[in-house]
Amino acid sequence: MPEAVYLSLGSNLGDRAASLNTAIEKLSSLGIVASVSDFYETEPMEVRDQPWFLNCAVKLETEKTAAEVLAGILDIESSMGRHRIQKKGPRTIDIDILLFGASIIQTESLTVPHPAMHERRFVLAPLAEIAPDAMHPALHHSVRDLLDSLPAGQEVRRIAR
Ligand code: AMP
Repeated sequence: MPEAVYLSLGSNLGDRAASLNTAIEKLSSLGIVASVSDFYETEPMEVRDQPWFLNCAVKLETEKTAAEVLAGILDIESSMGRHRIQKKGPRTIDIDILLFGASIIQTESLTVPHPAMHERRFVLAPLAEIAPDAMHPALHHSVRDLLDSLPAGQEVRRIAR
């Protein structure tokens, strides 16, 4: 049985939309890309003095293990010449695993659900568009509920893809 895996993609260097589109194409090497959200322009958090990000969420249906998916996304990031000068700073492409079915995974290299997903509007807004009813297996809330309970703050603007 394939797992439903939700990913968050982000870029804030160079042609951001082209980078998201290239990454989405490459994700088909890991399974079936079943849905892609619109793109969202989002205000940088934490390191705020950097360009706005373009973010989206992707549903991947895959027979691969979480470790294999992680290895695959790290390969995609390096094949796209991802370089980062600064932690949480600008990057050409960043891909995170948000949810891996209903699995809770805690290893040295992987934490799923992604530990910050429930605090981030730039993650939850695109994810709620394609998977409002997906459940967070540790917090036992739907994505829509997590988005609705975020405090006002980070600005995100939905734009057509
Ligand atoms: P970053 O580039 O800051 O997103 O960090 C990438 C590293 O975070 C990867 O090498 C992974 O080993 C680790 N990591 C831990 N949990 C996750 C996750 N849920 N999705 C993606 N990377 C993760």
